[in-house]
Amino acid sequence: PDEDGDECLPQYRHLFSPDLLAGQVAFITGGGSGIGFRIAEIFMRHGCRTVIASRNLQRVSEASEKLMAATGQQCLPLSMDVRQPQTIAAAVDEALKEFERVDILVNGAAGNFLCPASALSFNAFKTVIDIDTMGTFNTSKVLFEKYFRDHGGVIVNITATLSYRGQALQVHAGAAKAAIDAMTRHLAVEWGPNNIRVNSLAPGPIAGTEGFRRLGGKFAEKSDLFSVIPLQRAGNKTEIAHSTLYLASPLSSYVTGTTLVVDGGSWLTSPNSFSALLGTASSSAK
Ligand code: NAP
Repeated sequence: PDEDGDECLPQYRHLFSPDLLAGQVAFITGGGSGIGFRIAEIFMRHGCRTVIASRNLQRVSEASEKLMAATGQQCLPLSMDVRQPQTIAAAVDEALKEFERVDILVNGAAGNFLCPASALSFNAFKTVIDIDTMGTFNTSKVLFEKYFRDHGGVIVNITATLSYRGQALQVHAGAAKAAIDAMTRHLAVEWGPNNIRVNSLAPGPIAGTEGFRRLGGKFAEKSDLFSVIPLQRAGNKTEIAHSTLYLASPLSSYVTGTTLVVDGGSWLTSPNSFSALLGTASSSAK
């Protein structure tokens, strides 16, 4: 079972060793909500201290209070915009001042909405590329320069399966995330000798998230559309967080440059119907 909103799990049973990330520090962009929030919680339940960073300081501050209360670990909330390298540099400086190390970077910040390419403005396409693709590069590069180059590290980029079959109404996000998966391989090659592992994690439809609400998840659930997924349901945030924990931890010490798809097999079998998705778009807009 998972919690729908941005709340910590009322009960948790460890599947991995509780000290898997003991002594480590993770910097999580988009860690104040949705999937990023649960990744922060699960990392903290495994001994990790976290920095959660996004634009809205109030959002990350409230989230950090909940995370610290539920896990007993430290969580530093910071405001930054992944499109502005100087704000990232200031946040990373602050994180290093507080914790003196950063071992893991999770690039989770993103923006998305459903829109046909014909109705998408030039600026809307650019904005998604700026946040998702540029934001992932900017944050990775700042952390490389300030810490990972000399100490090694692990990067997990949260991407998506949208480009695998050219998902309708998603040219902006699909293109942005495909570029990140390419970046994952390029950086894994260039930074491997610095003992930096770089991987992507591509979630399918994940209940209890902003993405799920905006991309018509509720409509799909009501219309029984998830029965075509091999595992016949949407995923949950804890399932994504556990797979991220695997990629961030020494359990995957020889894994780099790859994309772990965590979608119940969804992209293999889900329909990619323009008209059905247009129905979803208008229903989720109501
Ligand atoms: P979410 O709660 O909306 O998370 C997005 C986060 O990004 C927010 O915390 C937001 O915080 C932050 N953000 C947005 N623009 C930013 C910027 N310019 N600078 C810094 N932070 C920024 O969404 P979610 O659904 O949990 O998605 C999390 C990740 O999973 C995303 O990468 C998404 O593409 C991916 N994903 C989700 C699903 C799904 O079903 N939910 C499926 C596939 C992939 P602020 O507003 O405070 O900046």
